[in-house]
Amino acid sequence: MHQARFREAVMRAYQRCCAICRLRRAELVEAAHIVSDADGGEPVVTNGMGLCKLHHAAFDQHIIGVRPDLRIAVREDILAEVDGPMLLHGLQGFHGQALGVVPRNQRDRPSAEFLERRWEQFRAAG
Ligand SMILES: [Zn+2]
Repeated sequence: MHQARFREAVMRAYQRCCAICRLRRAELVEAAHIVSDADGGEPVVTNGMGLCKLHHAAFDQHIIGVRPDLRIAVREDILAEVDGPMLLHGLQGFHGQALGVVPRNQRDRPSAEFLERRWEQFRAAG
């Protein structure tokens, strides 16, 4: 129940788009937790981001991180890899870019505290 409400609040705040790549195909966009369920992350909109399936999985695997200033970072070993267009454009190309979509309403934007917690985990993973 909480999760259904979380999903709807996040999807609405991000206009059903991926915050990283701005993909608008709602069937491919999910509500991601910033601080995960397992780490006690709450199902509130400020602990969520709309992410497409690729970027959701990459975020969960600490392949992509979001800095507390809302810039995107790609893990160093991933940046060094050479592969096809999906790696190049779908992942590496976002390194250093600002999030493509942030909620219009300030109070729906990611919490600095949650982003900091998650950013520490990303850095530890790198
Ligand atoms: Zn995406």
